[in-house]
Amino acid sequence: MNRLIARVVLLVLALASATAQASPLLTVTDTGSYTPVENEPHHSPVRDQSISLLWALDEISRLCQQLDEKLTSIEYSECASANLQPSGAYSIMHRSIAYKDVVPVIGEPTGKVLLIGGIHGDEYSSVTIVFRWLRELEAQQGGQLHWRVVPTLNPDGLLMPPKKSQRMNANGVDLNRNFPTPNWEEEAMDYWVNRTRKSKRRYPGTAPLSEPESRWLASQIEEFQPDAVISVHAPHGIVDFDGPLVPPDNLGPLELRLLGTYPGSMGRYIGVYKGIPLLTVELESALRVPGQEDTTKIWQDTITWLQDRVIEPPELPRSEQAHGDTQGADDPDESGQGTAVN
Ligand SMILES: [Zn+2]
Repeated sequence: MNRLIARVVLLVLALASATAQASPLLTVTDTGSYTPVENEPHHSPVRDQSISLLWALDEISRLCQQLDEKLTSIEYSECASANLQPSGAYSIMHRSIAYKDVVPVIGEPTGKVLLIGGIHGDEYSSVTIVFRWLRELEAQQGGQLHWRVVPTLNPDGLLMPPKKSQRMNANGVDLNRNFPTPNWEEEAMDYWVNRTRKSKRRYPGTAPLSEPESRWLASQIEEFQPDAVISVHAPHGIVDFDGPLVPPDNLGPLELRLLGTYPGSMGRYIGVYKGIPLLTVELESALRVPGQEDTTKIWQDTITWLQDRVIEPPELPRSEQAHGDTQGADDPDESGQGTAVN
């Protein structure tokens, strides 16, 4: 009930703001009734801005409410206090792809990091832990970095009723196979047919960036130009890495294991093709969030790695650079043999 009241209050405040800002565009006639000023457009920029604000509040509020209902590990209040912003991009089922920027309070940032949770909708822990880390970030005011945090990149896969959550988005596309890697047209479909035996969970889509979620993420790579990207998955309990620079040996209890990349995967697109370090954090369980100690340890080790290797990387001989462009682990697919794949 408290949630509902809070939501109504927010909406009323936004509406009041919209009305107050729109009022200068009205004049009082002799009879005391209000008429619009002549030649004014029906929708002024100021009023449109206020109405957009109202919708923005409502779409974030809706998203937080759905996350609260879906995940026992996320309360509405935690999500709401994260103050996520609508990106203006939407999933297939018109859910907001929301993010939060955290910047240093004093001085210019020394680097930019993009942190993503929930690209696969059935990896619940990856969404919750990103909210937890966002709280840490807010407490530290972002440290020296400019962070762009996206807790749930695939909201439909996570939230779509009445079905269970699913890895893919609402179109049944594995977003982590939909990025425009070189020769996608030849390789992605061939890989899907011949290597995954048309696994529904690995369907790459009809074309690269055919999906709004992957399209928005690719646009962020161009616009935000991160120095590193961190993508959280589950449940293989390891750290994977693609791209230049030296990866961490471990993050808390998660040890490094290079899995290789796939046609259309983020690792091949961001790490190998774009040359931006991509750290893939594979939590141990898709359903259970790590305990507080491990959550903090993984985070601290990530920050240390960013500081030591990304923001101020030492000079390295080429032979020491990790590539991750070999086809390491095969796609274990649906056989359930336990080979890791993200
Ligand atoms: Zn995953």
